Amino acid sequence: MSISHVIGYPRIGADRELKRAVEAYWQGELDREGLERAGRELRARHWAEQREAGLDLVTVGDFAFYDQVLDLSVTLGAVPARFGAEAELAAGEVSLDTAFRMARGRAPSGEPAAACEMTKYFDTNYHYLVPELHAGQSFRLASSRLFEQVAEAQALGHAVKVTLLGPLTWLWLGKARDEGLDRLSLLESLLPVYGELLVRLADLGVEWVQLEEPALVQDLPREWQQAYEAAYSVLGRAPVKLLLASYFGGLGDNLGLALGLPVAGLHIDAVRAPEQLAAVLDRLPAYKVLSVGAIDGRNVWRADLALLRERLAQARIRLGRRLWIAPSCSLLHVPVDLARETELDPELRSWLAFARQKLDETVTLARLLDGRATEADRERLEAATLALQARRDSPRIHRPEVADRLAGVEPADLERQSPYGVRAQAQRRALDLPLFPTTTIGSFPQTAEIRAARRAFKAGELSREAYEAQMCEEIAHAVARQEALGLDMPVHGEPERNDMVEYFGEQLDGYAFTRFGWVQSYGSRCVKPPVIVGDVSRPGPMTVRWSRYAQSLTDRPMKGMLTGPVTMLQWAFVRDDQPRETTCRQIALALRDEVRDLEAAGIRAIQIDEPALREGLPLRRSEWPGYLAWAVDGFRLTAAGVRDETQIHTHMCYSEFNDIIESIAALDADVITIETSRSNMVLLDAFQDFAYPNEIGPGVYDIHSPNVPDVAWMVALMEKAAERIPLERLWVNPDCGLKTRRWEEVEPALANMVEAARQLRRRF
Ligand code: GLN
Ligand code: ZN
Repeated sequence: MSISHVIGYPRIGADRELKRAVEAYWQGELDREGLERAGRELRARHWAEQREAGLDLVTVGDFAFYDQVLDLSVTLGAVPARFGAEAELAAGEVSLDTAFRMARGRAPSGEPAAACEMTKYFDTNYHYLVPELHAGQSFRLASSRLFEQVAEAQALGHAVKVTLLGPLTWLWLGKARDEGLDRLSLLESLLPVYGELLVRLADLGVEWVQLEEPALVQDLPREWQQAYEAAYSVLGRAPVKLLLASYFGGLGDNLGLALGLPVAGLHIDAVRAPEQLAAVLDRLPAYKVLSVGAIDGRNVWRADLALLRERLAQARIRLGRRLWIAPSCSLLHVPVDLARETELDPELRSWLAFARQKLDETVTLARLLDGRATEADRERLEAATLALQARRDSPRIHRPEVADRLAGVEPADLERQSPYGVRAQAQRRALDLPLFPTTTIGSFPQTAEIRAARRAFKAGELSREAYEAQMCEEIAHAVARQEALGLDMPVHGEPERNDMVEYFGEQLDGYAFTRFGWVQSYGSRCVKPPVIVGDVSRPGPMTVRWSRYAQSLTDRPMKGMLTGPVTMLQWAFVRDDQPRETTCRQIALALRDEVRDLEAAGIRAIQIDEPALREGLPLRRSEWPGYLAWAVDGFRLTAAGVRDETQIHTHMCYSEFNDIIESIAALDADVITIETSRSNMVLLDAFQDFAYPNEIGPGVYDIHSPNVPDVAWMVALMEKAAERIPLERLWVNPDCGLKTRRWEEVEPALANMVEAARQLRRRF
């Protein structure tokens, strides 16, 4: 019998109950016991769902009130000193509020302190709290939460498998806080705590512990590979069976390493890297089980059960009961339950599977392979086959006119008319900007009134005319304030946009939206990514009337504002029936028309935001060039259809450019604005070293802070910038959009920014 299980399950709840409970607790509206109760209820429900679906094991350890990596850090006693948790650590029980303070800087009890850094978990949109590592750091078991949860599940009568992030990936995700610290030097003191944990779990009667080691799908330095061997030769002696879980890609050059570690089982991702299955089957030691991640844990499409049965038939014959079936990775990364989407059109719905449905798919696949399929399994198989057939043939997916247009793209379509030097002169004449021109990144405060109007409009309580009139008022207001402030290149302020991807997705053919498709992004924050269902095209202009209206209010060059093709792709669930590259090109062509329409409407500068370009980088270095090539092409295809005098801007808000600077330059945007204020302009070194040829606006105003930056500070930053970049190519702007700020903060900050630019002009 093939065991079926999941690597992890979403904890947020089908109604985002966890979000509500946690936020109520932070607000003081729910007490500690109430929060704990909400957690217990969610865990109980999620385990029940796993068991009812027919999984052989339920997974314990995937729950967290904020983040499972944070909970592990706490369990290992890795609580930074500034949180003042010595007594809790000594007592072996770090409190919930300490964990919340690590996550957000404050909690209902305890002194506020600087929160830990947060960053994206591998190539997902899930953010974890970065473990802080110090030389000589000691570890100790400092939480019994996991053990309590195991007992809870057992009391409910479940067969339990525990999951934990493995020690190497925990270190890999951690950040050395002491200069020169080799993170691996901490392994020796870390392992005994893992050992103790495993013994405690064994004492509780746990048979299987899954150690997640997704770092194994990345390029590991030799010492890290060796450390895996050393660590697992110790951990392998624990009195439990270990399932080493890899996901988010293929093991590649770590395959032999992973297969050789002395653990009882290995989980592989057979969705992202189906090709590794054959190699693993050939080399799997006879004492090991193999958990095949066959159901896509990163996407929302219904599985092709017939195809999977065929693909895994060999594995079943060769491994017999040693074959386990699972989703590729934790289901944390997909929405909870499709059954809630009662308003989604039934055809589209029949093509999808969320976490709850993926449990069924997992179980059915295991039973099909075992030859013990029930009537319900056979029905599910047939329904999947029919739905997939319909999807393959559906005219809403395949639009010949989109394919034709794509086929007709020529290399010249990716080239501006003239090189940057020529364009820059034409733009100087057309735009007539001063030295150190000032601009902003696009959005102005999304006020309570704006959001209320949008809510009323969506609920049908406000007419379209009234809604649009109010948005026009907001735009007029934003333009007037920018004129008064003296900004050289105003923007319309984006009041009409709920979200930079959703806004465009809603207007493009090929995108679909769910009502409850929430996925945890960090802590209590969830996002609802759109689904790219079919060929993407643009039925009509999307932003033109807003930009045209805004331009009509001022003589200064109004900057149009679009979200770029890579970001439109990256922040959505994408099609699994064609390469990402193809979808990116389709979006690029749709946006290209928008760019040209803006130009035709008299917009002289157009910004194409690509904040997600960097996070799209594959986990393996060897795959970077391929990705960067099509991502750059997508941007160029979007941008290149305009005249020389139309100025193309792009914007990115992250802080690492060194390793992709060549591709950034290849975008050939006339102006790039980036986030730099916190980095003291050292970020510009990458641009300087590369001799980046076009214009740059290094952010001088940290929009994540409510503080108003002062003039001298911004002048000093720009002076540093001028040491690195020729001054005729510098712009003065904030780090990012201002939508999360209040006008009371924004106005004085921008006034100072404009004053800083004036002082710079006098000086240079
Ligand atoms: N134009 C967008 C804004 O100003 C850019 C947002 C982003 O970079 N994430 O809000
Ligand atoms: Zn930004």
